[in-house]
Amino acid sequence: MEKIKIPYIIGDGTGKDIWNASREVLEEAVIRAYNHEKEIEWVYLLAGQNALEQKGVLLPDETLHTIREIKFAIKGPLTTPVGGGFRSMNVYLRQIFDLYVCLRPIKYIKGLPSPIKNPERVNIIVFRENTEDVYKGIEWAAETEDVRKLIDFLKESMEIDLPYDSGIGIKPISRKGTERFVNWVLNYAITHGRKKITIVHKGNIMKYTEGAFRAWAYEVYERFMKDSAGKEIMVNDIIADNMFMQIILRPEEYDILLCPNLNGDYLSDCCAALVGGLGVAPGANIGDEIAIFEPTHGSAPKYAGKDIVNPLSFIFSACMLFEHIGLKEAKELIEKAVEKTISEGIMTYDLARLSHGIQPVKCSEFGRALIERMG
Ligand code: NAD
Repeated sequence: MEKIKIPYIIGDGTGKDIWNASREVLEEAVIRAYNHEKEIEWVYLLAGQNALEQKGVLLPDETLHTIREIKFAIKGPLTTPVGGGFRSMNVYLRQIFDLYVCLRPIKYIKGLPSPIKNPERVNIIVFRENTEDVYKGIEWAAETEDVRKLIDFLKESMEIDLPYDSGIGIKPISRKGTERFVNWVLNYAITHGRKKITIVHKGNIMKYTEGAFRAWAYEVYERFMKDSAGKEIMVNDIIADNMFMQIILRPEEYDILLCPNLNGDYLSDCCAALVGGLGVAPGANIGDEIAIFEPTHGSAPKYAGKDIVNPLSFIFSACMLFEHIGLKEAKELIEKAVEKTISEGIMTYDLARLSHGIQPVKCSEFGRALIERMG
């Protein structure tokens, strides 16, 4: 029996409910897909509130060390306080491991409720640059000594006059950061038979950050196509606010959305809504060496411990991990079981409340239903 080590972070809030429902599904899929010749060996990693309680820090060194060694992990959501307190550990993980590509597939599964007429035509991937933009976390709170120094500097050196009660944030987007991201996505598009990339930006207003992102993306595309004889991929661009309307009215026109960090964050949730919502939205954070797989959603604290949320976002993220480490058959087994389960009208509250006449099952019941329907 081959043991496959998979490091995992349970996460905060609903993370535990989701983990409890998903664990056995993932284990069964590997055992069944490989006829008892392979088995998952989970490697428990501390992060978030669990880590704070047990080790006094949100992200212990051992966790970082194990991820660096094994080179991949799956994680549940981690809570970040609003308007103060500690920095996001989700963002920190992406930055410390330089996971510069965030990949979020948005694909319809038959039977999922949707607010649009033809959800079966939705097949989009949101690519979000994952290390730059406002997520660098360079900010100064209003009415502090530091912000006063910055405001004085802006006034004296650049004749920019800001009121002293302003908070200030910095939005860096670099040529290098953009180019490596766009190159990665172009390679992905070619190897995965995708046909069109749409750059989503607000370059009319943020000319030297998102406008530059757009210009550099086109430059990379031109260079890429020169070296890629016979390869067909189209690129266009769209201003972000228009994108939100177009993606709801005409989602079938879009294939890959190429976004700076913040646009990609917003758009991921919006696109997820087209095919059932955050409960079914998986994701991967990928760098040159390491990849961490995680749902798009957060820790949804108001549902924590109630055993009602949808574990599919986590299960699908694990499917992406399975594919990444060569366990494609286990991934396919799970996908088939999901289709069967959903088509029988078995779903958690988030999907049931958007459907007609369906009684929701609990998070754990949904997990068991998947195992029962696994071929
Ligand atoms: P959230 O994604 O946790 O929840 C928003 C809404 O999405 C919920 O009210 C619920 O309706 C729905 N939802 C989320 N997960 C679901 C699931 N598994 N099944 C069904 N429905 C689900 O966003 P929030 O409430 O804005 O943020 C809560 C916390 O999560 C914050 O601390 C935030 O910083 C953090 N967060 C973490 C991550 C991450 O870990 N990568 C991502 C986003 C937000």
